This record gives sequence, C-alpha cells and structure tokens, in this order.
Amino acid sequence: MRKLSFAAMAMLFLPYAQAEERYCLNAVTTGNERTASVRCHQSNSDPLDLKSDPLIKAAFTTLELDPSLVDFKGCEGIGFRTTNSEADSGAKYLISYSSNTGDKSIAPVIHELGHVAQLEISGGYRILSNLYSPTQIELGADYLVGIVFKLGLPTESTAQFERNIELAGIYMPARNASKNKHGNPSMRVQAFRLGVHTNKNETKIKSIHQDFQDNVYGTIN
Ligand SMILES: [Zn+2]
Repeated sequence: MRKLSFAAMAMLFLPYAQAEERYCLNAVTTGNERTASVRCHQSNSDPLDLKSDPLIKAAFTTLELDPSLVDFKGCEGIGFRTTNSEADSGAKYLISYSSNTGDKSIAPVIHELGHVAQLEISGGYRILSNLYSPTQIELGADYLVGIVFKLGLPTESTAQFERNIELAGIYMPARNASKNKHGNPSMRVQAFRLGVHTNKNETKIKSIHQDFQDNVYGTIN
C-alpha cells in the first residue's frame, strides 16, 4: 500500500521522471491540491545557480557528497524533491526546486541533499524505505540540515533557516497532521535543532545518520 502511494505521488508530481525506481522525497508540498501548471526554465535548468552557492557547496562537503552526483532543476511553483536523474544526465540524482522562493530555497535544498546522503548511505530508495518509516526519513533529513549548519556553516545564523525549513504555510499541515510524513512543524524544528546543537563529536555522515535513527529519532515528540 505504501509503495503504491509513493508511486502515485511520483506520477502526480513527476511527469517527466525517468526513474526505474520511482520515488519522490519531497521537502515541501505546496498544498493539498494538484499543481495546475509548472513552468520550468528550458534554457537554464538551475536558475538560482545553486550549484555555485557557497552554502550548498558547504552542504555537499559536510554530507560527503560529490557534487557531480546531483543535478538541480528549478521550476516555478513546484515542491522541492529528490528523484533519480533524468535519462540524459551524467548525474545520479535530480533535486528539483521552486525557483521563485529565492534564498528561502537553501534550507529545503539542503534537506533534499540530506535525502541524497541517506540514499547513498543506504544503497537506494528501496532499502532506505524498508529500514525506516517515511517520518524517520524526513526528520532524519532535517537533522542532517542541522548537522550541516553545525559542522559546515557554523557562522550562519540558523534562525532564518529554521523558519525556512518549516516554511509554514507551504509545508503542508495536511488535513490530518498524523498523515503528514514530514512530521508536524514542531517535530521538524526539534530535528533541525538537535542536529545544530548536538554535542556529539562525530563527523562521519554515515555514523551521524545511524545515530539519528538509533538514538535521536525516538527523543522527538
Ligand atoms: Zn524530504
């Protein structure tokens, strides 16, 4: 049933996905209604030039990800998400982002890079989703955003990014909050802050990911 709903999500949001293994890890859902139209930038797939953004570069470094693994695609009015890359790409993953959110895109895109780290560590979406619930995966990505700020961006003020990761009004509160796989806003902020303020000295992202799932996730309420 869960696999079916993921496939349905992928069909809904990813008409152009070339994924053998269809999945969709969304940072943001823009509402309970289907997006009527999406305008992608044909001539410039990364209109915010996130690939060159110093904060995004720091995230790649902290998460131990090779930037060549990821393509970015900005479109107006879509949710943030991570999928398999498109067929003609040399990259492995495609992070799509809403191009009209400006600087507010940074935290959600780092959340998506957290998903890429989870996928790389686990060996793919099937394994990841068999190991952990959707909420564990989503809060795990928020925790990794916090880790990026702790280890990679220690001088950045986190307040602004904390608001963006929550993106109240854009993050879907859901008709039934218990069905929102991202967790409610309070849980998301907790996960982010636990990452920022952890006093553990671990720097290996695989160990940090595992520690979150084994020891940290259960403390979030
Ligand atoms: Zn997510």
